[in-house]
Amino acid sequence: MSVPNYEQIGNQLKVLAHPVRLRILDALRRDAECVCHLETLLEKPQPYVSQQLRLLREAGFIQDEKEGQNVYYRLMNDEVQSWLGAILDDPQDLTAGPLGHTQLVNCACPKCARTVTALDVT
Ligand SMILES: [Zn+2]
Repeated sequence: MSVPNYEQIGNQLKVLAHPVRLRILDALRRDAECVCHLETLLEKPQPYVSQQLRLLREAGFIQDEKEGQNVYYRLMNDEVQSWLGAILDDPQDLTAGPLGHTQLVNCACPKCARTVTALDVT
């Protein structure tokens, strides 16, 4: 049996122990999002949100992925997903409850803007 990396896990828990970072992870476990969406969701300035994302990335919770002009953040792996399931709620709720991307009316991110465009067409 391998010995847990107590140092690393201790540091990860320190990063987790913050309401805003938990809220970011709760959004990201449902869907990948870009900074501008998280900024609108949290109602926090961009430098603040970027700083939280950097801490979460350095702790190995999230990764970023460039898609066109935008950078999307998503959970690093299933292990992070199951941690969050234990802390926040049953991960099974994710497939039953109000899922995925949270649409925000005042958000200019591609995922929110895309739906507005689709509504305009219909
Ligand atoms: Zn958005």
